[in-house]
Amino acid sequence: MLSDDCVFCKIIRGEIPSSKVYEDGDMLFFRDIEPKAKVHLLAVPKRHFALLSEADGEGMRILSRMLAVIPEAAEKNGCKDGFRLVVNQGEAAGQTVRHLHVHILGGEPLGW
Ligand code: AMP
Repeated sequence: MLSDDCVFCKIIRGEIPSSKVYEDGDMLFFRDIEPKAKVHLLAVPKRHFALLSEADGEGMRILSRMLAVIPEAAEKNGCKDGFRLVVNQGEAAGQTVRHLHVHILGGEPLGW
């Protein structure tokens, strides 16, 4: 259930290169191409849905697993002292890629 013209679906299909740090059947984590912190990872469900509010039961199951996987993946990739998770929903929040993703930010002290 991937979308043809979605940049993250293209990354998931291997059509666009990415710096992967974690992958399983449900999700892919890779480094953000324009990092907003010393460590900036994106956690992306392989199932395509644009918005958190569009996640169905299966989407919520994947997101729940994703939250369980994130702490270890973050720690292994430079966020030993903590990390921040961000989900942008909609244009007003600054969402630019309409495939749900969780930003994982850390590797340095973060201002608010
Ligand atoms: P958002 O603004 O919440 O939709 O976040 C989208 C994020 O995806 C931004 O931080 C971009 O820098 C990042 N991004 C866009 N294209 C790529 C790409 N090809 N590889 C890695 N990160 C990307």
